[in-house]
Amino acid sequence: MLKKFPRTSIINSMFYYIVTYGCQMNVHESEKIAGILHKDGHTACDTAEEADLIVFNTCCIRDNAEKRALGNIGALKQRKITQKNLIIAVLGCMTQQKGFAASMKEKYPYVDIILGANNLHLLPYYLKLNDRKNSLKIEDTDTYDINIPVDTFRTSYPNAWVNIMYGCNNFCSYCIVPYVRGREISRPPREIINEIKFLLDEGYKEITLLGQNVNSYLCEGYNFARLLSDISKIDKKFRLRFMTSHPKDFNKEIIDIIKSSENICNHIHLPVQSGSDRILKLMNRKYTSAHYIKLADAVYENIGGALISTDLMVGFPTETDGDFEDTLSLVKRCRFSQAFTFVYSPRSGTLSASMPDIDKETKKHRITELIKRQNAITKEISDTFRDKTAEILIENESDGIFTGRTTNGKLVSFKKSGSYKTGDFATVLISVSKSASLTGTILLDANLANK
Ligand code: SF4
Repeated sequence: MLKKFPRTSIINSMFYYIVTYGCQMNVHESEKIAGILHKDGHTACDTAEEADLIVFNTCCIRDNAEKRALGNIGALKQRKITQKNLIIAVLGCMTQQKGFAASMKEKYPYVDIILGANNLHLLPYYLKLNDRKNSLKIEDTDTYDINIPVDTFRTSYPNAWVNIMYGCNNFCSYCIVPYVRGREISRPPREIINEIKFLLDEGYKEITLLGQNVNSYLCEGYNFARLLSDISKIDKKFRLRFMTSHPKDFNKEIIDIIKSSENICNHIHLPVQSGSDRILKLMNRKYTSAHYIKLADAVYENIGGALISTDLMVGFPTETDGDFEDTLSLVKRCRFSQAFTFVYSPRSGTLSASMPDIDKETKKHRITELIKRQNAITKEISDTFRDKTAEILIENESDGIFTGRTTNGKLVSFKKSGSYKTGDFATVLISVSKSASLTGTILLDANLANK
């Protein structure tokens, strides 16, 4: 469970601040970096201004995350002149791009430590080498054994993220991940199950299994369905989620496990990216729109109350009006509860970066249209919750307002009442539906859910 540690007086200990960019996987990696630093005697502080160690946990998947990271690192140049003992460490997958570390050392010579995403556990070692009087410029982006266990400083109670695998084998033509994170490595099932049992004993109520493509998990005779099944049978009341799935590997066996389990949530995040088979082929996604629709139908038919969210990309190289229309048709057919929409931008080092890009105006027009269509569907789905009750896991409290989610992933806010607290399950009567979220009231006499 999250503990706020006091400031320590250990000699050579530092106050650290971590800046995180990118996806959920990176947020969890920052929890691991914090765990490593804490174990090494350093203490978290609330702002970058107070820190004598600033760690940038970077992400290179999207261009804007990379630009923001570089902008923020650049902004520290002056401070490094006046605060000589400040240590700046740049970690994460941005540093593992070919030639990146060398270019960073040239353009940002005041950065002290550059470490690859698979080397996080080496940070204390390099901090000791860099004793602040004798500042060394250190670069280490080689791949190491990423299964080295680390203590995680979790900040997300009642949710806990658990990596089940690392890396990716898929080489989608627009994606840099396989180049910077390496090939898939699955963690042993016993290690994962033991970690989850420990977290549940600690009081966590929701476990999210993480991996770039969790459906291709394979280790010691376990595939993803078997792993999911064993975890879901742990004898506790908790919610089990997973991300991210890949339509080429998500299958009926997984759907059947979800259908038969009390603990696995009926919300599937299944990125489709495009509704055009021609574009899917260029993206190297290895499925067709018909295959995706079949999977979506099977989810809706078999898993009660299931909702599907997705990722959609517009403006992929050579995308025509007809291709875009195919995406709109698929969105209409699959009725996603939510879609994370992106405009394609080339990432250097990927296959699609050499394909002919389309013009910005067309991309802008398409993303606007797509968001408009999806928002209408999201609102229609939200409306179906009105005047119904739903079990909500309370995830946050701010100014007397709780927020949490339904099992199928809808965000709900409601006034705090009774003895309810973060981490409790509450039965909530939904009264108002907005596009992406719902508002309701706790039914007090339903507090039995937490007994
Ligand atoms: S599945 Fe495709 S998009 Fe996802 S991480 Fe792997 S290569 Fe990238």
